[in-house]
Amino acid sequence: MLDHTFDDWKSRAAALRFRNQAFINGKFVDAASGKTFQSINPATDAVLTEVAECDGEDVDRAVKAARKAFEAGSWSRAAPGHRKAVMLKLADLIRENLEEMALLDSLDMGKLITDAVTVDAPGSAHFFQWYAEAIDKIYDEVAPTGPGDLALVRRVPLGVVGAVTPWNFPLDMATWKSAAALAAGNSVVLKPAEQSPLSALRLAELASEAGLPDGVLNVVPGYGATAGKSLGLHMDVDCLAFTGSTAIGKVFMQYSGQSNLKQVWPETGGKSPNLVFADCENLDAAADMAAFGIFFNQGEVCSANSRLYVERSIKDEFVEKLIARAQAMQPGDPLDPASKMGAIVDKAQTEGIMRFVEEGKKTANLVTGGQQVAVNGKGSFVQPTIFDDVSHDDPLARDEIFGPVLSVVAFDSEADAVRMANDSIYGLAASVWTDNLSRALRVSDGLMAGTVSVNTVDALSAMTPFGGMKQSGFGRDLSLHSLDKYSALKTTWIKYQS
Ligand code: NAD
Ligand code: MN
Repeated sequence: MLDHTFDDWKSRAAALRFRNQAFINGKFVDAASGKTFQSINPATDAVLTEVAECDGEDVDRAVKAARKAFEAGSWSRAAPGHRKAVMLKLADLIRENLEEMALLDSLDMGKLITDAVTVDAPGSAHFFQWYAEAIDKIYDEVAPTGPGDLALVRRVPLGVVGAVTPWNFPLDMATWKSAAALAAGNSVVLKPAEQSPLSALRLAELASEAGLPDGVLNVVPGYGATAGKSLGLHMDVDCLAFTGSTAIGKVFMQYSGQSNLKQVWPETGGKSPNLVFADCENLDAAADMAAFGIFFNQGEVCSANSRLYVERSIKDEFVEKLIARAQAMQPGDPLDPASKMGAIVDKAQTEGIMRFVEEGKKTANLVTGGQQVAVNGKGSFVQPTIFDDVSHDDPLARDEIFGPVLSVVAFDSEADAVRMANDSIYGLAASVWTDNLSRALRVSDGLMAGTVSVNTVDALSAMTPFGGMKQSGFGRDLSLHSLDKYSALKTTWIKYQS
């Protein structure tokens, strides 16, 4: 796959068959209303397919199927070894269909095929495998009561988990939620983002092929304000796992309060700071990773290192290095293995990014990029863009842009750097570059972020929890800790004659 040429990928893309109906109770079905919406490739503006537009009625059908499956117990009460085998099989099937899964995300939301096939799709298989392997290795507790009492404290599945996911990593976001929720024994109703529903639909089909019983994983494509809202307000959904914007994360908390007090786990936005100190020896490595940290996936990454704080004595030198890297990452056709950056997910997102750029030109120093461009005369692309001399109070340094736009702020002292880094409504991730061990630890201790990466950016693995502080949300994806979101602690107290 890594030796595929541009032409190879184009011919494979042309041969794809899209799953475009809802997946409910183990079958592909149309929306009850018969309505559809267009799935668009932002790199070409072409309509890929018409997708079932689910609304409240379809969500209700899916929740009923999920509840029925949960109560039947074919998954929720299956032997751990059986659940493990099914999820391992699913991981294998994702690997067998890696090219297709990668193409679906690349076509649907504009990411580079090279990234989709080396990062996103293998990541999905890996996460399913990781949670599968955990299923028969987790032990519960016996409370330290005295003789005559035996108190079991067990983790039990919640029932029906709703998952509402964004478009920036469509397959992986669907995976993070469903792999952990399924491993814990729940049924799932997944509402993927309307910009990128295709990989989730294929994932559900593969899960069924792997042996997941009907109704255990349902996918209801549709809009947020209809399908997403119905899931958030549903009286028979026990838990709602959300990844998306902070504004909609707050709305889901309200849905819960207006309905059945379902648990809500919001994983939301970010404006992650990257702190580069003058005592960092390898500034080239720091510049490579700073560029990667903001330009990977077109900057459409919740933990993107979008605020760069550089010690003043090296600031100009460092910005020169970044400009060179940005200029080498111009957007191109996502299916071309030579391309360094893909398309922006849709026109609305592109317009939003360009508004920040136009306003930013009035208050900061645009040193590279700043243009919306077309590739082969088509699509929505934005050049890698860097603003220097940004005031820490500027919207460029405060708001989540969710595009390839970096804001550079100089600092004079460690205390200033930490203060500015923490002066944000967000707290998802942060990075620190220094060769001074004490400083690395001191600054890491001081940063309010779910993940602090030292001498790297965006450290992430199945083994470590991922999630935010402050308005980046709460709850954690990945690691065994994410299972806590999808299970309740249940006490069974037994009296016996001692
Ligand atoms: P979004 O909040 O607009 O949409 C996310 C999901 O919510 C979509 O499925 C959408 O259809 C649904 N939705 C929208 N409005 C809704 C409503 N009124 N009721 C119910 N559902 C609704 O976010 P987006 O633009 O798709 O994604 C980008 C955002 O996601 C960024 O803020 C980014 O930081 C965040 N994100 C966070 C993480 C994380 O783990 N913290 C990971 C990836 C992305
Ligand atoms: Mn799309």
